[in-house]
Parts: sequence; C-alpha cells; structure tokens
Amino acid sequence: MQVYVEKEYCTGCQHCKDVCPVAVFEMKSRMVGDKPNPEVNTDKAPPEHQWTGKVDKATYDKWANVQDGHRHFANDNDGTSGGISVAVNGDACILCQACLVECEGECIVITDDSGNVYKSIYK
Ligand code: SF4
Ligand code: SF4
Repeated sequence: MQVYVEKEYCTGCQHCKDVCPVAVFEMKSRMVGDKPNPEVNTDKAPPEHQWTGKVDKATYDKWANVQDGHRHFANDNDGTSGGISVAVNGDACILCQACLVECEGECIVITDDSGNVYKSIYK
C-alpha cells in the first residue's frame, strides 16, 4: 500500500494518527525557523502536493477558527494535535479506511497494490 498526504490541505488535526491501528502517520513540525520542515516531504506525496509552507486558503478559512478540541495549523505537535501529518509507514496500511473518513482536510490518498486509489472524504 502506498499512502501520502496532500500537504497543503492538512489541518494538523491528528485524527489520522489517532485512528490508524498500524501507526502509518506521524505528526511533524510545519516549519523549522522560517523554512518548511524537509522531514514533512518524506512520504510519497507527488511534487504538486509536497509541503512548501503554504496552506490552501479555502481549507484554512474553513478550519482555522473551528473549536473542536484540536488545534488547527499549529506549527508544532503537542501530543493532541498540531504540526502536519506524514505517512511514514504506508507499507503497514491494512486499508481499514478509518483515516479516510476522519481527515478534516480530505487530503489522504491511498493506492493499493492493484493500483486502486482511495481518497478521504470527511464524514
Ligand atoms: S486505511 Fe491504512 S493508513 Fe488509514 S487508518 Fe487504516 S491502516 Fe491506517
Ligand atoms: S486527518 Fe487529515 S487533516 Fe488531519 S492531520 Fe491527518 S492528514 Fe492532516
């Protein structure tokens, strides 16, 4: 299984990490100083969805002020939320699809071994 996150849409809600039974996701800092954290681009996101430090405006406007107990677009992770999600362990994915329905940014993409593509749709 190949898993990646379309970085510009990730709110940092951490739902993916919290629901994944096989620890596919890790939350990384968004920026190191004033530069995008290069560790964020270690999953298989295609070039147009790699992290450049720019959040999609519509996604930001939708989630920035939502009070649901998760921090949105925070630079660092505090154990509950914040940072940006990186699919560090896509090989372990069992396609349970839990992350796909919990992803606020609708930005997780999974490709199975037959080439079928699954994208997140927030429930
Ligand atoms: S579909 Fe894969 S990546 Fe998503 S929660 Fe399930 S095992 Fe984890
Ligand atoms: S669930 Fe989606 S929006 Fe939330 S941290 Fe994971 S990839 Fe980002």
